Amino acid sequence: MDFRDAPAEVAFRDEVRSFLDANFPPDFATDANVEWGLFNGARRQIPGHADFIKEWTAKLNVHGWGAPHWPKEYGGGSLSVKQQFILNEEFSWRRAPRPGGIGHGWAGPTIMVYGTQEQKDRYLHRILSGEDAWCQLFSEPGAGSDLASLQTRAIRDGDDYIVNGQKIWTSGAHRSDMGILIARTNPDAPKHRGISYFLLDMKTPGITVRPLVNMLDSHEFNEVYFEDVRVPKSQLLGEENRGWYLAATTLDFERSGIATSVAHQLIVRDLTRFARESEVGRAAVSNRDSLRNELADRAIEAQVEGLISYRIISMQDRGEIPNKESSIAKLYSSELDVRLATTSMHLTGMYGQVNDREDARSIGGRIPRFYMHSTTSPIGGGTSEIQRNIIATRGLGLPRA
Ligand SMILES: Cc1cc2nc3c(=O)[nH]c(=O)nc-3n(C[C@H](O)[C@H](O)[C@H](O)COP(=O)(O)OP(=O)(O)OC[C@H]3O[C@@H](n4cnc5c(N)ncnc54)[C@H](O)[C@@H]3O)c2cc1C
Repeated sequence: MDFRDAPAEVAFRDEVRSFLDANFPPDFATDANVEWGLFNGARRQIPGHADFIKEWTAKLNVHGWGAPHWPKEYGGGSLSVKQQFILNEEFSWRRAPRPGGIGHGWAGPTIMVYGTQEQKDRYLHRILSGEDAWCQLFSEPGAGSDLASLQTRAIRDGDDYIVNGQKIWTSGAHRSDMGILIARTNPDAPKHRGISYFLLDMKTPGITVRPLVNMLDSHEFNEVYFEDVRVPKSQLLGEENRGWYLAATTLDFERSGIATSVAHQLIVRDLTRFARESEVGRAAVSNRDSLRNELADRAIEAQVEGLISYRIISMQDRGEIPNKESSIAKLYSSELDVRLATTSMHLTGMYGQVNDREDARSIGGRIPRFYMHSTTSPIGGGTSEIQRNIIATRGLGLPRA
């Protein structure tokens, strides 16, 4: 593949850079490359951020960049996957919040394809404007990797469904207005065929959201309980019992993982600066070739991660659908996240455990959070074991166990 931008892509990249120069205040750079949905929900309450988010959303939407992969008719950008890639890459280098999240990435595209006109009119513009934050109510205590085993029931009662059951690990449920819910509507059908897809108003009576505080002492995900929750039939998306197939819909969405690769390269850059410029960093590497080599390995691996992203984007650009390649990218990226966090700890030593010392602050004071958060990378979005299974069966042609 030729990694260079074609002339039209050079022009687009310039346009994105000029936009960021003119509009993005570096003060609002996020700690990591946070996707829009997460940023939108998480920062809503912080003074000053709410106004910024409102303005930023409006500015992005003028260009269709609030939802670059959505068709123009729905307020998106109709950008090609290559343009989305460039947009993601450039936003990530600035640590500017990028469009994304459950509303933009999942709910919106699925509503566009399967929704009634009424559902489209009601929800799509509210996702774009940031009025509605969405969460994803898929995983259950007994159904994560094997999601089709889910037990939450939705039983038809006149013009409503009555939902009972429990979801878990629901990111952002406590600050979401809406949720995409999959629940079992036919317990007698084979497990993939008895599931339906609902657009759920999170304020419906009978829904209880209980916080799950993680080891960062941060409230990101939740348990969500449903007790006789009445969901009107008008909130069913697509056909009853076809929900499993809807859950796979994402439109033509760039999923190369370039943002994570850039985030990792930025962390390597910060760590290298720390090793060169700070007293603690210099002391750590001065007599330890092994630590310098470790840092060099991470730098190379972050570049390799970028090349894997290029491989995926080149396939998407040719109209191919990455399959095992996406699993390779997810596996490589989440395991690199863990290795890079470990290297950060090796380099910062005991200071890696504090947020408020000058030395720690020089790399953003984010090492302890990064280290603890990295443990979730090989789990969220599909575990490393599941990715290995996919690579083994679809990539290497090995038999299923
Ligand atoms: C940070 C974070 C945010 C999340 N946000 C959401 C959210 O917003 N909404 C939502 O619905 N879910 C969310 N999840 C849940 C996530 O999708 C599940 O945790 C994930 O799919 C794994 O499921 P599980 O936790 O039930 O583990 P299990 O599936 O029970 O797996 C347990 C262990 O067994 C292994 N295993 C399972 N099956 C196999 C197999 N066939 N072969 C080999 N090994 C196997 C797994 O790899 C894992 O090590 C989130 C998770 C995290 C970590």
